[in-house]
Amino acid sequence: MNLEMVTVFIVVFGLMIGSFLNVCIYRIPKKESIVIPRSHCPHCNHQLRVWENIPVISFLMLKGLCSSCKNKISFRYPIIELLTAILLLMAYFRFGLSVDFFIYSFFLCLLVIITFIDIDTMEILNGLLILGLIVGVYPVLEGGINSIYQSLIGALSLGLGFFLIRVIGQLLLKKESMGFGDVKYAALIGLLLGWKIGLVASAIAFLSAAILFLMLLPFRKIAIGQRIPFGPFLSFGALLGLIWGPHILEWYLNLVF
Ligand SMILES: [Zn+2]
Repeated sequence: MNLEMVTVFIVVFGLMIGSFLNVCIYRIPKKESIVIPRSHCPHCNHQLRVWENIPVISFLMLKGLCSSCKNKISFRYPIIELLTAILLLMAYFRFGLSVDFFIYSFFLCLLVIITFIDIDTMEILNGLLILGLIVGVYPVLEGGINSIYQSLIGALSLGLGFFLIRVIGQLLLKKESMGFGDVKYAALIGLLLGWKIGLVASAIAFLSAAILFLMLLPFRKIAIGQRIPFGPFLSFGALLGLIWGPHILEWYLNLVF
């Protein structure tokens, strides 16, 4: 297969996976089955016909409205479908068509689910973290971007680091500042990316959270002391770490030394 064909295939495949991730994000917090029933409109329960369930295209054809009750379909559905396709393409350009590609694509899909469920519910579900361990076992089998030692040190250092931040935050602010879910999520990212890239991912997470906070503050979209989900920032850091980690690390070390 030539490059164009593989690219087209991954985009189509990515859009379809993204459509499934939407179902997961919507149903997992409600403890509903992700397999049955078929997708339906959340307003009128109209069951989507096949042509209404084509990623992105159906949304555009329906002009973002349910065909039955004409209520708005959330913009988030096509966005997550497109996002998933882009993430899988990034994994492809990073790893080529290899076992690494499939393993880390699975990881990226999990990041998408964890991120949006955290945004919706402020919770990082244990079941999803355990699913992430499937990727974590990979370095043990001598595959992936890390040795098993780097992974274990990564899990320990990030887990402990975030646990300390949680404890110190609680002491200073006299309330929960970082959820325990974030601590476990950070440990998982350390395990999957190893301690070096794990540290890069954490730094990006804190930096991006701070930048967004400062950007939103003047618009009063956010208040000091307000609780925000940290999972999305960790996911963002993990994504950049996975795709460009070694380059970011090298750039930073050149800058400092
Ligand atoms: Zn409807």
